[in-house]
Amino acid sequence: MPVRAVIFDLDQTLLDRSASLLEFLRWQSEGMLRSDLENPADFVSRFLELDDNGRVWKDEVYRRLIEEFDIGRWRMEELLAVYESCFCGFCVSRTGVEQAIQELAANYRLGLISNGKTPFQERNFRALGYAEVFDSILVSEAVGLRKPDARIFRLGCSELEVAPDEAVYVGDNPIADIKGAREAGLRTIFVPVDSDTVCEEADATCNEMGALPDLISKL
Ligand SMILES: [Mg+2]
Repeated sequence: MPVRAVIFDLDQTLLDRSASLLEFLRWQSEGMLRSDLENPADFVSRFLELDDNGRVWKDEVYRRLIEEFDIGRWRMEELLAVYESCFCGFCVSRTGVEQAIQELAANYRLGLISNGKTPFQERNFRALGYAEVFDSILVSEAVGLRKPDARIFRLGCSELEVAPDEAVYVGDNPIADIKGAREAGLRTIFVPVDSDTVCEEADATCNEMGALPDLISKL
């Protein structure tokens, strides 16, 4: 079947989460918390350790940071609310994504499926600046389904009015993205966060986002 739709993961696929988070944390530690922290760089690196690549939600991260850095003048809820409402202001795409999206939008229907909180993930995605060319945006908390559950991929396909075998899923997580989408009947493209990671189950691997339209046309 020819490919008619391309569906993307958000974190570390479209969104350069590492770079975005680093910029946000620099602002939070050197700007917002400037009178509270002796060494803002230590706060940033400890946040990144506790965050564990996004696996730990920020209520727990901030609770620990307040204790370890002795900044009880701030409540966890305040720091968390700032993260939830301001992170989008620092969101940047991975290199090559914007060009790839513009090219793909001319030939395919586009969708997003992200595991995460709503409306946090929708805001972060919209901040990247190309949401208007997407016809379906699904966030796990909003729809009550999480990748790798095949049902969330099928829901994405039905919103785009394509069959699963007419869609490609693009993501960086071998289990949640690649295994899940395969089980739902989609073709898959693996986007490694670093070039050493391999995912043999994927139909193709994209090391450089600018190459994505070409890779999809050859599936
Ligand atoms: Mg991801």
